[in-house]
Amino acid sequence: MDYVGRIYRPPSEARSLLLQVSIGCSHNGCAYCDMYTDKQFRPKDMDQILRDIDEAAAAGPQFHRMFLCDGDSLILPTKRLLQILSMVQEKLPWIERVGTYGDTRSVGRKSPQELEELRAAGLGIVYHGMESGDDGVLDEIVKGGTAAECVDTAKKLRNAGIDHSVIVLLGIGGVARSEAHARNTAKVLTQMDPPFVGALTTTVLPGTPLFTAQEEGRFELPGKFRLLEELRTLVAESHFSRCRFSSNHASNYLPIRSELPRDQKAIVKILDEVLARRDERDLKPEHLRGL
Ligand code: SF4
Repeated sequence: MDYVGRIYRPPSEARSLLLQVSIGCSHNGCAYCDMYTDKQFRPKDMDQILRDIDEAAAAGPQFHRMFLCDGDSLILPTKRLLQILSMVQEKLPWIERVGTYGDTRSVGRKSPQELEELRAAGLGIVYHGMESGDDGVLDEIVKGGTAAECVDTAKKLRNAGIDHSVIVLLGIGGVARSEAHARNTAKVLTQMDPPFVGALTTTVLPGTPLFTAQEEGRFELPGKFRLLEELRTLVAESHFSRCRFSSNHASNYLPIRSELPRDQKAIVKILDEVLARRDERDLKPEHLRGL
């Protein structure tokens, strides 16, 4: 398989075949992100994609899921995506689900009919780094979308029958907007009602605009227990039909894996106990955390 530069995928796609169909991220502007700053966004050469699909076909049914890299492959024209997905269906019939990153911009550009065509061609899940449901925070981090657009995105994906996995970032509002960030994110998640939500913890990476803001005193990452209070607000104030809600990413201080609303009371109770004790031994040690 041909990969240009560093490759990223959601944790839950660890056992998926990674097919790079675009290089970099078309937005490449989020204040906390350094994933694709060394790559100029462009579609991957189609002949190379087809060679990769042939290589995977020759290797046989080793993978049953596929993830399309890089940062926001859903921004590619629908015609191109359908061409890739139809080749996957033809040559790798054992692939049961294809996933990709997408957001308000890429989903917003697709018509309901285009999304249905993509689902029929095998697109089963879109991972959406929403990060926050607070418009002030979204603006500060240059996310390129609004809370209302996140709700539209969820509706369009649901209507097309495509699963929606939403990623939110604990701490991304800083100390100043911590409460507004948590409460408004819970409110927007309730309106979105996605089947999957993953809470990650913000890491301030050197070289990013967020790092500069921190250096200049314009951003302060909330402390560990304040981050857990944000998590508690998300669990307690979000209301879902049925959602697998997790905070088991390596960046988090307290991993939880839950199904909401079924586990809501139990998770809130655990968080309340940890918050009452304020004992760092309850939290994942720094050296075990990862990005
Ligand atoms: S859309 Fe995703 S990949 Fe692109 S800059 Fe933002 S966080 Fe990074």
